[in-house]
Amino acid sequence: MLRIGLTGGIGSGKTTISNLFHSVHNIPVIDADEISRELLLPSGKAYHEVINLFGSSCVLESKQIDRKFLREKIFINEDLRILLEQIIHPKVQAEITSQIESINSRYCIIVIPLLIESNMQSIVDRILVVETNKQNQLNRVATRDRCDKDHVEDIIKSQIDSNERLKHADDIITNNGEPEDLILQIRQLHQKYLALAI
Ligand code: ADP
Repeated sequence: MLRIGLTGGIGSGKTTISNLFHSVHNIPVIDADEISRELLLPSGKAYHEVINLFGSSCVLESKQIDRKFLREKIFINEDLRILLEQIIHPKVQAEITSQIESINSRYCIIVIPLLIESNMQSIVDRILVVETNKQNQLNRVATRDRCDKDHVEDIIKSQIDSNERLKHADDIITNNGEPEDLILQIRQLHQKYLALAI
């Protein structure tokens, strides 16, 4: 099965696009963010290690790990970010590999927001980068997450530069127009991936 890694900056349209691959073309989607969230649940494989790293103050009354607390800590502390990634990334990678094994399809889409930053290129066969201009990113995320644009700007700055990301792209979707404009680009890629998957 051909493994397509879908990546792009915050608010570029990864979720929108993976949903379209699934709903229009019935292509299975694996979501690295969803896997990360599950790893942090009390039943998850990273729960205890993460509490050991951040201390009990990262645990809410509900016993859930406070992901906002983690985000704020690693935003200001690079060492903590690296240690957290050392716990999470290998487990995400293992879970992606296990999900791939259970899928029966010509190709699948694996959404990995930090594909390049976390050096996970080797688990995919091709890299599909979603691109949108910064103004769109700021507007769309501020609306989606009901946050201010300065906050979005900080997140964009913490991610790899979009030109740098594009250097790794085998395929590119441009998402500067209407959501409907994505349908055609996705249909063309769908045909291409089916042909490559033979
Ligand atoms: P990502 O998963 O990359 O963070 P999303 O797919 O969630 O990005 O898109 C960010 C927000 O922008 C969502 O609210 C989505 O509905 C919206 N969006 C995506 N593409 C477009 C578009 N072409 N025009 C308008 N809004 C869009």
